[in-house]
Amino acid sequence: MDESTLISTYFDRRRDRRKDVILGIGDDAAVLRPEPGFDLVVATDSIAEGTHFPPGIPAAAIGHRCLAVNLSDLAAMAAEPLWCTLALSLPQADPAWVGEFATGLFALADRYAVSLVGGDTVRGPVGATVTILGRVRPEGAVRRSGARPGDGIWVTGHPGDAVAGRLLLAEATHGAAATVLRHRFLYPEPRVREGRLLAGLATAMLDVSDGLDDDLRKLLVASGVSAELDAGELPLSAELRSVRGAQAVECALTGGDDYELCFTMPSSGDARLREVSAHWPVPVTRIGTIVPGSGARWRLHGQPLSIPDTTFRHF
Ligand code: ADP
Ligand code: MG
Repeated sequence: MDESTLISTYFDRRRDRRKDVILGIGDDAAVLRPEPGFDLVVATDSIAEGTHFPPGIPAAAIGHRCLAVNLSDLAAMAAEPLWCTLALSLPQADPAWVGEFATGLFALADRYAVSLVGGDTVRGPVGATVTILGRVRPEGAVRRSGARPGDGIWVTGHPGDAVAGRLLLAEATHGAAATVLRHRFLYPEPRVREGRLLAGLATAMLDVSDGLDDDLRKLLVASGVSAELDAGELPLSAELRSVRGAQAVECALTGGDDYELCFTMPSSGDARLREVSAHWPVPVTRIGTIVPGSGARWRLHGQPLSIPDTTFRHF
């Protein structure tokens, strides 16, 4: 049974849901309304050694990552992160390791003024689960389901860098490009400020964690639409091109761990997007258009592009 069937079969009990659940299972985060006037946004993501990162990476990178992946889910809702909890699993209590982990975690938490307010610590394989809580103005959350025909499809940053960086961890390749790409995998930068600025502009949004093509298809299914995309428009970084050459496009489409935002927006928002994105640390690039129908059609240099299904699946 695959992951999404398992969740929808055993855990998604929509009928029994409380009235204050505005948005439940199925998006990047849940939206809850404990009181009128304030929407609470909640997400949980786990990372495990061997599944989400290889053994032996710096403890600081694991501390950074377990929070970054959760911040990214809140960013995808255009929410402001506020608090988090941490459940940490460790084979042994090595103070040097835990100290480094905490340094990585808090360096990121402090940048976004997120407070760690609880958690759990247990013996087990190396892994961490963070639950993050944040807020949006009522109806301010951007869901996956709002894309409409005619909307442009946009992506932040340089998808593909992270998977190239992960592959380079196992290689001795030297040079500036390899160093940049390894850093992109080890310290993903969640697009929290960018996501919040897209509230009121983006019609649908998600974060790219499993690979741009795979994640975009989730947005298309949730919105009940199709997409025409041009792989020639992909914002491939110079580092990715220099290290992966002809495989750079495939990295950008199927490699995971980018933690960039993919969103849709009617062209009436183009001028405003140029304005708000002028000071972003990363580019924002239009890669396609929403059309009626289902599925995604990629083209490269005018020719249809079929995309290998290499997406990682837990089950
Ligand atoms: P993401 O990749 O954005 O973190 P996932 O693919 O992990 O999202 O999860 C898809 C949806 O299913 C999310 O809304 C998530 O909250 C929900 N979900 C995942 N696992 C469970 C579970 N065991 N119980 C309830 N909901 C779950
Ligand atoms: Mg997500």
